Amino acid sequence: MSGHVSFRLGGCVELFIVPNTLEALLSTLEFLKRERLSFRLLGNGTNIVPSDGLMETLVISMERINDVHFDGTKVYASAGVSFKKLCLLALKNGLSGFEKAYGLPGSVGGAIYMNAGCYGWETAESVLEITVFDGNRVSKISKDEAQFGYRSSIFKREKDLVILGATFSCQPGDKSEIEHLMMETLRQRYEKQPLEYPSAGSVFKRPRQDFYVGTAIEKLGLKGYTIGGAQISEKHAGFIINKGGASASDVKALVEFVRNKVKEAYNVELETEIEFWE
Ligand SMILES: Cc1cc2nc3c(=O)[nH]c(=O)nc-3n(C[C@H](O)[C@H](O)[C@H](O)COP(=O)(O)OP(=O)(O)OC[C@H]3O[C@@H](n4cnc5c(N)ncnc54)[C@H](O)[C@@H]3O)c2cc1C
Repeated sequence: MSGHVSFRLGGCVELFIVPNTLEALLSTLEFLKRERLSFRLLGNGTNIVPSDGLMETLVISMERINDVHFDGTKVYASAGVSFKKLCLLALKNGLSGFEKAYGLPGSVGGAIYMNAGCYGWETAESVLEITVFDGNRVSKISKDEAQFGYRSSIFKREKDLVILGATFSCQPGDKSEIEHLMMETLRQRYEKQPLEYPSAGSVFKRPRQDFYVGTAIEKLGLKGYTIGGAQISEKHAGFIINKGGASASDVKALVEFVRNKVKEAYNVELETEIEFWE
């Protein structure tokens, strides 16, 4: 899995399936349902820590399910489309709405799954409806039905629902202004985040509005603290980076270490935003 996740670590899965078309994806999903075989879905692998060794699971990669269609100010993007591509195509079409998402790693499916957000923008605010497959049929669900919350959606609870794509709403905008805001967002990311190292982004969810996890960890003097190849970033204490040769166990141990320190110092229970695959 290390070649498929941004953390560049993890072992193997029993089978890695890459459907080339939507039809191939649907028949694969139907087959797995019929055979009662469980599986995991992989977007761009930017929020995942696959465990070391062999995981007894099948993985379906959405990377080739990547159509984009514009219809006026609406855009339909399949689940495997990267947010980078979506932002650039919106710019090309003079559409505003995704500027703050420029630089958000990951796919449309992954962003909807966890209602990814950055710089005051959240995926949910751009979504109109989502196309899903439940193992039997393809249907559309509304934004309300998706039950978006902070880094959550119905898809975290209803594991049978596969996101096939989504329709987003944009607004007409001035191309140079859109581009300027996109570049500004990207500049801020490069300035604040350790993008020169493999990672899965912010490790922990913010437990409440006024608690900044990165700052809290930094105040405990933990920047640079290392277990094996995993390190609390010197640049942004909310990130754990792979300094080279990190294993999933290193990351897990470091996460537990930080959780305990934060609990001790602030009496706050941290929950991870990153997902561990066992
Ligand atoms: C450097 C860096 C910076 C980051 N910055 C941010 C940020 O600013 N804000 C933020 O919110 N996140 C951020 N992240 C985390 C991550 O990029 C986002 O959560 C992203 O939306 C995950 O998308 P993905 O396609 O990589 O999902 P994956 O990591 O592949 O999967 C995540 C989850 O989504 C599920 N999933 C994926 N596709 C589907 C589908 N089609 N149907 C159903 N379930 C699906 C997977 O099964 C898994 O449970 C960052 C990560 C990195 C590495």
